[in-house]
Amino acid sequence: MNKIVIAIDGYSGCGKSSTAKEVAKKLGFTYIDSGAMYRATALHFLNENLSPLRAEDVEKGLKGLQISFQLNPTTSQQETYLNGVNVENEIRTMRISERVSEVATVKVIRTALVAQQQQLGQKKGVVMDGRDIGSVVFPQAELKLFMTADVETRAQRRQFELLAKGEQASLEEIKLNLESRDEVDSNRTESPLLKVSDAIEIDTSSLTFSEQVEQIIDLVKKVTLN
Ligand code: C5P
Repeated sequence: MNKIVIAIDGYSGCGKSSTAKEVAKKLGFTYIDSGAMYRATALHFLNENLSPLRAEDVEKGLKGLQISFQLNPTTSQQETYLNGVNVENEIRTMRISERVSEVATVKVIRTALVAQQQQLGQKKGVVMDGRDIGSVVFPQAELKLFMTADVETRAQRRQFELLAKGEQASLEEIKLNLESRDEVDSNRTESPLLKVSDAIEIDTSSLTFSEQVEQIIDLVKKVTLN
């Protein structure tokens, strides 16, 4: 299989990360969760009591920010580290979901994270998911996908994921958070979430997880055969 770049963008909670992870595993590619980097940044600003909307705080925050990914040998899952500390579980909580989109509106923060994402994808053989991967991070990606799903389905899936990690949140609370992040992500000035013209849309509302994965693998085969 040729080493290509697969860019997956789309709304919050439509299964981008889990699908991207499985596609990468099947292809022997590297999976990079760009959302985890924005989440870790939001956690860092909260921990340090810094405002992403104040220029001097942003400068200070970025200076003391180091994000990395490491494979957990027991679960074979990639986990997110903030300044050497494993923050994989903490960044998935509602506390961070409620703050992350504000952090992601800030141009200098995006510039720093995009540079790291581009470096991580330099060698190709990468599946990266986010909001601006096909538009900004890898505009030359060989395969661009735009995933969608109706908000009820997304909220139910997210509630299930949170419960599995021991966090209780009502469907209404989750739905409001997904809608509010979609709104901020789609309407911000810096790299808004959009479907680029060369992206293929996949609506996952009525697809099973394995159907989603298989659809993408079929598209990868088409792209790599051409
Ligand atoms: O993908 P995930 O839902 O974990 O992303 C969390 C948030 O990070 C998004 O709602 C968005 O505000 C921001 N994000 C972004 N650009 C990306 C990835 C995530 O702005 N490439």
